Amino acid sequence: MYRLRKSKIIATLGPKTSSKETIEELFLSGVDVFRLNFSHGAYEDHKQKMIYIRELEAIYQRPIAIMVDLQGPKLRIGMFDQGSIILKEGDAFCLDMHKSPGSKDRVYIANTEIFKVVKNGGHILLDDGKIILEVTECGTDYIITKVKQGGKLSSKKGVNLPDCKIAISALTEKDKKDLDFCLTLDIDWVALSFVQHAQDIIDIKELIKDRAKVIAKIEKPQALENIDDIIFHSDAIMLARGDLGVEVSLEEVPVIQKKVLQKCKQQGRPAIVATQMLESMIYQSSPTRAETSDVATAIYDGADAVMLSAETATGEYPVESVKIMDKIIKTVEHDMTADRQVSHILHSIEQNMEKDAMMFATKNVASTIKASAIVSFTICGGSTLRLARQRPLAPIIALPTEQKTCRMLTLVWGVHAVMHSKVFSFQQMQDTACDTAYQEGFSKNGDVIVISASAPFGTTESSNLLHVSSIQRAET
Ligand code: PGA
Ligand code: MN
Repeated sequence: MYRLRKSKIIATLGPKTSSKETIEELFLSGVDVFRLNFSHGAYEDHKQKMIYIRELEAIYQRPIAIMVDLQGPKLRIGMFDQGSIILKEGDAFCLDMHKSPGSKDRVYIANTEIFKVVKNGGHILLDDGKIILEVTECGTDYIITKVKQGGKLSSKKGVNLPDCKIAISALTEKDKKDLDFCLTLDIDWVALSFVQHAQDIIDIKELIKDRAKVIAKIEKPQALENIDDIIFHSDAIMLARGDLGVEVSLEEVPVIQKKVLQKCKQQGRPAIVATQMLESMIYQSSPTRAETSDVATAIYDGADAVMLSAETATGEYPVESVKIMDKIIKTVEHDMTADRQVSHILHSIEQNMEKDAMMFATKNVASTIKASAIVSFTICGGSTLRLARQRPLAPIIALPTEQKTCRMLTLVWGVHAVMHSKVFSFQQMQDTACDTAYQEGFSKNGDVIVISASAPFGTTESSNLLHVSSIQRAET
């Protein structure tokens, strides 16, 4: 089983997608990576979903990655007794420290710092900026506001304070506890919210100790100031456009998206474009034309993966959302293959001259001889990442020796990973590559493939070998 597209799909699981059958349907419709959002949900629910994902992985014999998204220092309101309220322009609305369920007049807010930093006349934005409140009175444990822009407000929605700076580290006590819990389970990626500097990534990596890869979520202006360093220290980057579009001006978001994607490409880090991609599909069975165009733009910009959030977690049409995303990606990729060789992507200083030069050559040989696949032998995935960064036309079949690497690579552009034991000779390398390309359905008899490997075999990852083989199967 393999996907007929190169960019990957990440889907967030939530109350609407908690059964094994639904998760299976999402996977079969195209999900490569499942995201579990630790801003919501109980540990037991998350754990059950992880168990289902691993069961599906065993049934379908394909690696599936699990991404854990840590809430970070996100301010959130508490619960409403009816689940949600409607706020109208001009209404008075209070944020306070009473844990009791909220009403149309007030709601709980968990963070005490907020009461110290807000000022009269300042703005408080709720639910990704959909609701705007203006502060009219602030006490030590309450803030009274006037609604400037109303709408429906549900329990636990996010709070942004664009006028204030709150000094909090990206890793909260809750995140540490959540991380401890997750690391007892079999997870692949950890996304850290509201990263501001590379140190946030260095700190979390110290706790994780190689048990998972780390994604920096870019959603703060401070992260943009330190973007090169953050990309360097992270294993992947997520453009978390929900909070980003509140923390910086909305019109900046597309510009930032292009710049950050380009920088990720230069450093060879996978990049994810996230949030509101098919937002209207939370309630409708088909997206707006503008949303379709947004997904397409992310693919044209060179994203490794596009992500669904509420569309699959709480929306009415989770499976349809994945199917539509899958179709948009395929259509754009077909167009890119036909007339827009993706050469615009790389004009950068190479990270590691020799290895990158080999991957550049591998891509070019594959396209000259019209190889039906490039087989990439790898141990920790580094070589495959370098190859994917070159955006070759042929599909990349990665052959890591560890399941963890296989799963990690499901997020990466163009990669189909198959676990394999180490090879120890040239002949073994050639046979393994040809057999896998044939058996996995990428190549047929008589096709040529390109092999990228490291010699001496079974030792380090030097990516110093480029070989062309042809598939010769005895006709049965
Ligand atoms: P969130 O992150 O869903 O955890 O807020 C995504 C975003 O901010 O866009
Ligand atoms: Mn966010």
